[in-house]
Amino acid sequence: MNYSPLNDPEFKEFREQSRKEAAKKRRRKALIGLSSVALVAITCFALLTLSFAEIAPSIPSIPNILAALFEKNETTNTEAPSPSSPEESEALPSSPEQEASPSEIVVNPNAPIICIDAGHGFTNSTGALDVGAGEDSEFYKKSLELTGTGLYEADLNLMIALKVRDLLVKKGYQVIMTREDYVYQHLSINQRALNVRNSEADLVVSIHGNSASPSAYGARVFYYNNGEHATASLALANAVAKAIDANDASLTKANVYEDTFAMLTLVKKPSILVETCFLTNTEDSLQALTEEWQNNMAKAIVDGIVAADL
Ligand SMILES: [Zn+2]
Repeated sequence: MNYSPLNDPEFKEFREQSRKEAAKKRRRKALIGLSSVALVAITCFALLTLSFAEIAPSIPSIPNILAALFEKNETTNTEAPSPSSPEESEALPSSPEQEASPSEIVVNPNAPIICIDAGHGFTNSTGALDVGAGEDSEFYKKSLELTGTGLYEADLNLMIALKVRDLLVKKGYQVIMTREDYVYQHLSINQRALNVRNSEADLVVSIHGNSASPSAYGARVFYYNNGEHATASLALANAVAKAIDANDASLTKANVYEDTFAMLTLVKKPSILVETCFLTNTEDSLQALTEEWQNNMAKAIVDGIVAADL
């Protein structure tokens, strides 16, 4: 089985950021116990009297605290995989998406503009990262067990969303992404939907992973059966569900359901929400960890968009 997250340098970066954010939260909590005077004293003492090389092994928490204090400057990722590392370059999969040269991609001005929303991945109102289905999901447990890296729903949503984006761009569509990474700022789901409403997008596909009892499995497609876009949304939902089946991207027949998710009701555009699989189900989770399935799901979503011809 090909566990794509291990082969994806972009993904490793996401995980690193996620880990840093979690570590930062822990350090913040730990710092509450310290007085600021003590912290300044320790920091000054460390900076003025000792080199980092000397203190790091004996007091590892101090560089970490300093890193947390200056973390706002962290946009330049100094830990990106080095291209000279043979381990990294060997691990890279030969991605067909990367083989198309930019000159081959031609934007079709008549094609609709598609908004792809990778579910979750922003911070919530308390400042914590909203990862969607988290560490109690089968998906997280299986990914941790099999790859050494625990994956969240937000990771899977993004991996699929990026594949969908690339396929659409190759077909000449203009694509608007609500995120292409984790976003460490709070944007409520309503505001996220309103931003999509105000965007140029002609239709919206929100990508998620489902959670329920362990026995539930397979993909489901949701639309909002109300308002002026109900008919178009249903057509899109039916086309994507059909394409999911045709691309063998669900362990059971993909059915269409009505719902009132904010990303459906507030955007005021033809829109669907795809629950690509159940992250609480073992078989679904194992399948979702394969690049083959992720490619099939991404292709299905794109095939459905094309077939709906909105
Ligand atoms: Zn979700």
